[in-house]
This record gives sequence, structure tokens and C-alpha cells, in this order.
Amino acid sequence: MYIAENSIHDEFRGMIRRFARDKLLPFAAEIDRDKRPPVEGFAAAAELGLQGLPYPERLGGQDGDMLSQSIMVEELARVCASTSLTISSCWIMMAVVDFGTAQQQQDIVPQITRDGGKCAWGLTEPKGGSDLMAAATRAEKGDGGWVLNGTKRFITNGGWADWYLIFARTSEKGFGLFLVNKQDAGVSFGAPERKMGMRGSPTSDVILEDVFLPDDRLLGDPAKGAAYIVEELTRSRIHMASHALGIAAGALEEAVSYTEDRSQFGQPISRFQMVRGMVADMAIRVESARALLHRAAMMVQDNHPDAKMQASIAKVACSDAAMAVTTDAVQLHGGYGYLEDYPVERMMRDAKVTQIWEGTNQIQRLMIAKEVYDARR
Ligand SMILES: Cc1cc2nc3c(=O)[nH]c(=O)nc-3n(C[C@H](O)[C@H](O)[C@H](O)COP(=O)(O)OP(=O)(O)OC[C@H]3O[C@@H](n4cnc5c(N)ncnc54)[C@H](O)[C@@H]3O)c2cc1C
Repeated sequence: MYIAENSIHDEFRGMIRRFARDKLLPFAAEIDRDKRPPVEGFAAAAELGLQGLPYPERLGGQDGDMLSQSIMVEELARVCASTSLTISSCWIMMAVVDFGTAQQQQDIVPQITRDGGKCAWGLTEPKGGSDLMAAATRAEKGDGGWVLNGTKRFITNGGWADWYLIFARTSEKGFGLFLVNKQDAGVSFGAPERKMGMRGSPTSDVILEDVFLPDDRLLGDPAKGAAYIVEELTRSRIHMASHALGIAAGALEEAVSYTEDRSQFGQPISRFQMVRGMVADMAIRVESARALLHRAAMMVQDNHPDAKMQASIAKVACSDAAMAVTTDAVQLHGGYGYLEDYPVERMMRDAKVTQIWEGTNQIQRLMIAKEVYDARR
């Protein structure tokens, strides 16, 4: 039931593949080396309206389904994981569509779909990311609004984004989601983190010191932020799984091409059985991860009761595939794979974080196991 891209999805994939090759590939190595945001790729994507893909047409978006979103992220990450992440981070504000008022939607979403606005979300804190419910950032209710204090750590697009979706404690046990603008008084940013990979994607602390937000910057119910975030994380796990899959697919392609070009013992190394076995295993990992991912994407689209677990399964499968396939791709390049001159070196560095963020793969496995046991009751 939950399978397959139709011809529209096929055509879309082809279009995004050509776009990525023409507009992202020329800058992929450069932004990694210079550790700078992907301004060229971001602007080119905005011209096509890619930042608006999941948003409703009435708000300037394209009403793209989950499968289209997955295909887009995969194809962009296939050539440049940093640019792909920067663009898909703009989809975080779907939370405003899901839980915001009509006015909030009108105020925020067109800035993203039409005006090149950039987004981020702040869940993780210095004391921890896995134990989200231990978050210490506080939002105190005051006259006509809320006052936020706290620090969010490892925030993708920190300092670069215009809008931040901030998860903050509103009572002893309750959390809210708040819309914070870069220009709000009391908002500042830490130094850019120096990372192993994803170097073209800015990451920094977001520091909130007595940030006053009027009431209309609270999203929905001040006690339901945790439930909202679980819903948004289910969708974003599909995006992050797609991102990881794209890195794996790109590395496989590089490995196939290199092994056909490189000769040893008087013949292309692609003729050696051990090399072919590795390539076959890489292809199996990519194809099986994609099948799981597409199934999960369609289940999320349909609000299937098992969608959350399937999104976790896809996240683990795709990110574990990314790490394994990129490592093998480096291996198949021999010594050259260890040099910055070949993209597989960057791909292997970019792959690692896909097992860490968006709920580490250990946390995903805990969640999957819980669902498996609960299903017996
Ligand atoms: C490049 C980058 C970008 C990021 N972008 C964002 C962002 O945009 N927004 C955001 O909010 N966060 C972001 N993060 C944060 C990321 O989501 C967290 O790093 C991640 O959730 C893990 O949290 P932690 O680093 O505090 O590790 P910890 O929670 O301290 O975990 C450390 C280790 O302990 C393991 N562990 C923890 N608890 C358990 C348990 N119960 N059982 C078994 N093992 C456990 C973990 O799996 C991990 O291996 C980003 C991180 C990076 C590196």
C-alpha cells in the first residue's frame, strides 16, 4: 500500500536533481572549506519557491506532499548536505500552520514562502538534548505577553535565521512554543560552532535574556508545547532521514564512478569481486532505507497511527546507511578518499551528525522498542 513515487514525483525528482547539479554542486566544496552559509544555493532555491514546498498555497506555498518533501531533501543532500539542511529548515514554521492562528500564519509564513525568510528551532539546551522535558528555558507570563530566559544550544541557522521556534517551560510541568525574531530585544547568539561536518550550515547558541514577547508570539496552548513538538518532530524526522539518505545516495554514486575510472592490476577496480560486493551492499542499504523512508513519509502524510514509529525507523535506517555507505565510499577511493579533493571525504563527515541529531539513534531505538512492546498490550 505505502509504496512508490508516481510519474509526477519522478518528474519532480528529475527537476530537483538538475537544479542541485546546476546551482548547488558548484558551491558544495567551497562552502564546506570556507565554513560559510550557502547563500547562492539558498537564493536559487528561493527563486523556485522550494522553501515554500510544504506550505499551503494560500500562504504562498506549493502544498507539496510528504513524498515530494522527502524527494527534494534527498536530491539536494545528494550533492550538498549543508545547503539541503539550510533550505529544509525553512519548513520548521509549518508548526505555525498546524497550531497558529490565522493572523500568525499571515504574519509569518509569507515571509518564508515569498520573502526569503530563514528559520530555526530551539529545543536542545547546554544541559541536554535527549531529555527534552528537562529543558530549563523559562517563559514567565507577564502583562500583555511573556518574558523568556535561557540558552538553546547547537541551533541550526543560529544567528542566520530570522525566526526561531523556541521550546520553553511555562509552568512546572508545561511547555509552550514561542515565535522569537532575531531582532527582538534580548536575543543574542553564541560564536559559530566549529564542526566535524555540515560546515556550510551555521550552528550556534541562541541566548535569550529577558526577551519580552507579546501574547501573539505564543503558538497555541501554553501547556501543549510538548505535544506540538512531538508532532513536528515526526514530520521533521522524515526530512532528516531524507537528508541522510541523500548523503548515502551521493556517496554511492561517487564510489561507482570512481571504481569504474580507477585501474589497478591492469583493469578497472570495479571488476574485482570484493569491490562489487561492497558496492552491492551499499546499494542494498540505500534502496532498503529509501523503501522504509517512502513508506514512513506516506504514513505521516495520511496521519496513520503508526506514523511516529515508522518515522523513527526511517530516521535510524537512513542515518545508519549514510554512515556505513559514506565510510565504504571513502574506502573504495583508497588514499584519495581521505583527501579533501574528493567529495566522499566531506560526505563521510556530513553523515555522522545524522545519527546524532533529531533524537539520537539510541533514543530512536528506545522509542521504537516502546511501540513494539506497547503493541502487545
Ligand atoms: C550540527 C548540529 C545541529 C543541530 N541542530 C539542532 C537544532 O537546530 N535545534 C535543536 O534543538 N538541536 C539541534 N541539535 C542538537 C541535537 O539534536 C542534540 O545534540 C541531540 O539531540 C543529542 O543531545 P545532546 O547533544 O545533549 O546529547 P546527550 O543527550 O547528552 O546524549 C549523549 C549520549 O548519550 C546517549 N543517551 C542519552 N540518553 C540516553 C538514554 N536514555 N538511553 C541510551 N542512550 C542515551 C545519547 O544517545 C548520546 O549518545 C544539533 C546538533 C548538532 C551536532
